[in-house]
Amino acid sequence: MKEVSSTPKWVTDYYKDFRLKERTKCFKTCLKCGETKLISKFSVDKRNLDGRISICKACRSLEGLNYYYHNRVKMLIKNIEYQKNNKRDRSIYFKNYREKHGEQLKENASKWYLENKEAIKRRNLKYYQEHKKACLARRKLWIEKNKEKIKRYNREYKRKHKISKGAIG
Ligand SMILES: [Zn+2]
Repeated sequence: MKEVSSTPKWVTDYYKDFRLKERTKCFKTCLKCGETKLISKFSVDKRNLDGRISICKACRSLEGLNYYYHNRVKMLIKNIEYQKNNKRDRSIYFKNYREKHGEQLKENASKWYLENKEAIKRRNLKYYQEHKKACLARRKLWIEKNKEKIKRYNREYKRKHKISKGAIG
């Protein structure tokens, strides 16, 4: 085995210089489209000597789109399978977590809500105004889906209300 110290100084110097140049260069040529572009047009990748990936952002996003287009069914299935497989584990995890930290979580949530009440209201209102149509559609769908539940709830509410009214009057 060769010892590290046996490497001549001019080699290590050359290498150091080369690395410095690589790390400080302003332009890079894309391996895919062959265009020379500003270094900022390449995503950061610490594993590369110059700290950037070899394909420009434009080519990469195109690649990503292509990949998605050709594998969309596969990816969808994969996602669904992943969710199915992890649903149980995740729900058990959250259940345990909630049981363990329930009070703390409630406290945190209500504290957070009280502190941010106005901001939350504003955000919700803004979201509603920007997505009015979608919100209304979703609401309609929800009502349609929960018709029976709402009816039951209303009946229950009326019954309770009547009783308490009767008790007062
Ligand atoms: Zn490119």
